[in-house]
Amino acid sequence: MSSQSQSYFERAQNILPGGVNSPVRACKSVGCDPLFIHRAAGSRMWTVDGDELLDFVMSWGPMLLGHANPAVEEAAIWALKNGASFGAPCPAEVELGELIREIMPNMEMVRMVSSGTEATMSAVRLARGFTGRAKVLKFDGCYHGHSDGFLVSAGSGVATLCIPGTPGVPDAIANLTLLAPYNDLGAVAAQFEAHGDDIACVIVEPVAGNVGLIAPAPGFLQGLRDLCTKYGALLIFDEVITGFRVALGGASQRFGVTPDLVTLGKIIGGGFPVGCYGGKKEIMAHIAPSGPVYQAGTLSGNPVAMAAGIATLKQLAKQDYAALEKRTAAFAGEMADILRAKGRKVTLNQMASMFTLFFTETPVTDYATAKTADGAVYGEFYRQMRGFGVNLAPSGFECAFTSFAHTDDDLKKALEAARKVQL
Ligand SMILES: *Cc1c(COP(=O)(O)O)cnc(C)c1O
Repeated sequence: MSSQSQSYFERAQNILPGGVNSPVRACKSVGCDPLFIHRAAGSRMWTVDGDELLDFVMSWGPMLLGHANPAVEEAAIWALKNGASFGAPCPAEVELGELIREIMPNMEMVRMVSSGTEATMSAVRLARGFTGRAKVLKFDGCYHGHSDGFLVSAGSGVATLCIPGTPGVPDAIANLTLLAPYNDLGAVAAQFEAHGDDIACVIVEPVAGNVGLIAPAPGFLQGLRDLCTKYGALLIFDEVITGFRVALGGASQRFGVTPDLVTLGKIIGGGFPVGCYGGKKEIMAHIAPSGPVYQAGTLSGNPVAMAAGIATLKQLAKQDYAALEKRTAAFAGEMADILRAKGRKVTLNQMASMFTLFFTETPVTDYATAKTADGAVYGEFYRQMRGFGVNLAPSGFECAFTSFAHTDDDLKKALEAARKVQL
């Protein structure tokens, strides 16, 4: 069977490594080729072959309002007509910054960047500059973008493709990254006992979303807060996925724990390339030009992306998060039951509008337990669901996302597809 997607993928493999511009899109771990997308709207995408997909990837999280949201589209087009980039300050940067601070009061000052990777990389540089220390503690399976020091025991595509470490990251840099298992405060305390004077920051996904969804155990985030305070290290919440998702005010709001710095991305750009880091004023004041820690960006605070971000956050502030959480929980629960009825062991992790179905009977609380899930069964499930027009994450180690555009009929349709799957 030859399709336009296939012929694009053949061409793509001759011009883009692996045929893609980001590894997880290649669908390698689920044993098939990617579909090329022509258009998306609401909860749907349409392939270049005209096939409709009910989408639960949502661009890996950004499209919480649904694809091609009319108000976001209108704001971006209006901004674009006035010029795509100025390289000079524009009002929208201030407006989006203030809007973020209104929603997340911990973000006393912010700096806009162009991706989540840039946000986390810059936040760590700031933590190092502020504390005068070099080491960073991260958690096994957490993904913080692709900058060098974060690719040690990382999640997302690094986990999906089983890449052990990453060539290109010198040992001298990898050695500055300390590790602990997610949800293991004892291991964090041990690292602080051994390296306390050298740890600039602890960076954590307050709800892990890059080895599939893993919730923080009760007391875990507060425990990190306490250890960081005790040893004079900064606590960074990487809310690139969870910001505006697990609650309007993100995980800091949902769990009532205050980090020193927060990184944002994905939803904040409404589909445009935007990242942001921010936090306490006294720390953010160390960023150039108000302080000595250098960080810059030609397209940072881009007027079109800022307009899309403002339109996104203004609408999100009016949405019923509790209702979407309830519908997502019921939907994911029923999906898990359908798979169990087929004789499969399933561990369902779900929070707000995100969930992961792990094909394992082991409760999944960290990277090691996530790895007990059967990737081959997930691949089979993924391929059959896609055949029925339902687009799930192309890896068993990623979250599925619902959005405010997903209707009850959409969810029903996805469940009908799951019933037809043969595992
Ligand atoms: C996606 C992601 C990033 C990286 O963001 P990019 O925009 O892809 O660079 C960082 N941290 C977390 C938690 C993410 O999920």
